[in-house]
Amino acid sequence: MSTVLIIGAGGVGSVVAHKCAQVPDVFSTIWLASRTKTKCDAIAAQIERPIQTAQVDADNVPELVALIQRVKPDLLINVALPYQDLHIMDACLETGTAYLDTANYEPTDVAKFEYKWQWAYHDRFSEKGLMALLGSGFDPGVTSVFTMYIKKHYLDEVHYLDIIDCNAGNHGQPFATNFNPEINIREVTAKGRFWENGEWKETMPLSIHEPFTMPEELGTLNIYLMYHEELESLVRHVPELKRARFWMSFSDNYLKHLEVLQNVGMTRIDPVAYNGQEIIPLQFLKALLPDPGSLGPLTKGKTCIGCRVTGVKNGEPKTYYIYNICSHEACYAEVKSQAISYTTGVPAMIGAKMMLEGKWTGQGVFNMEQMDPDPFMEDLNNFGLPWQVVEL
Ligand code: NDP
Repeated sequence: MSTVLIIGAGGVGSVVAHKCAQVPDVFSTIWLASRTKTKCDAIAAQIERPIQTAQVDADNVPELVALIQRVKPDLLINVALPYQDLHIMDACLETGTAYLDTANYEPTDVAKFEYKWQWAYHDRFSEKGLMALLGSGFDPGVTSVFTMYIKKHYLDEVHYLDIIDCNAGNHGQPFATNFNPEINIREVTAKGRFWENGEWKETMPLSIHEPFTMPEELGTLNIYLMYHEELESLVRHVPELKRARFWMSFSDNYLKHLEVLQNVGMTRIDPVAYNGQEIIPLQFLKALLPDPGSLGPLTKGKTCIGCRVTGVKNGEPKTYYIYNICSHEACYAEVKSQAISYTTGVPAMIGAKMMLEGKWTGQGVFNMEQMDPDPFMEDLNNFGLPWQVVEL
């Protein structure tokens, strides 16, 4: 019996609230707070169980502290934006509250993902006897758990890892992003980076691609090499990795629009003077693009996210592919969201469940791959994200 406080009432926050509500034995009281309270109320109205709602500016630590002291949560689930991570962690430290998020901290003025800012909180969480779990979404999140599951049950050592995120769905819009447009475009337009033989190698944005044939006759898509935050933590926690890469699929249509938007400066994140005021072009673009939440009823098809893991077992080389396939339409039917929000929100709920049930414990700041994968993998099957392993 626990009280959970979810911060952020966007696409992911909505799924987290729906999924926590499905597990009343663990999440007996659910609070949902965000910058715009009406969004929390609209989500609460979709859910049969009572969800308490509140308004909060998560960049304002005293305001957050006051809310946490009122709600007294056993755990705070942060599914606001990466910019809020450190402020929310500060408020958790001040109030003695456990913390979970799905994306690592990013400063607003540089598109840079690095765990160093959040890892720096380890000692302070540890001294207070508190646990903070970072990156409990799908990627990061499930992808790290998948990797550790293969390492635990199929291989003695993991040498090569390819995380492959494919979206074979279609929302029918000329151009839209499946999650927060600002975060998505910052991520996609950044330089690629991968780990090889003990060092990081950098590539120009989206300059390396190859075709990938998805299982279960989902077809073949072009996947592009990108940098993604779980590479940093996996390389640190699985030191035997010789190479770790992250790939994501994009349609030609998405890339064509992105190229034009970049060429005309619409993806810039530095302030531009316009009509006597400063605007950030990417934030203005976000205001023009479809709200990812509105894509739910429009999106058809499936996502396929998984890990191709090569290593050795009893001295023999082996390669396994572990993956989940998720249907946009089935997600919408269940929780009124498309699969991108669903595949993030379900692991956030499961990570919270692991912590509240005492299956995942620790004092300090942890990444997903530091925990036992087995109970989490079992719950993926129980809560809507079943997985398969095949030997390649
Ligand atoms: P949305 O933009 O849909 O939602 C973000 C929510 O946070 C909005 O409700 C927004 O409020 C709220 N918010 C923003 N700033 C503040 C603030 N200062 N105080 C309080 N609330 C605030 O994003 P998503 O739901 O798509 O993404 C949520 C998180 O999930 C992001 O961090 C994203 O990076 C992460 N993510 C992780 C993935 C993974 O697999 N690990 C995959 C996809 C996303 P308002 O409505 O007022 O704007």
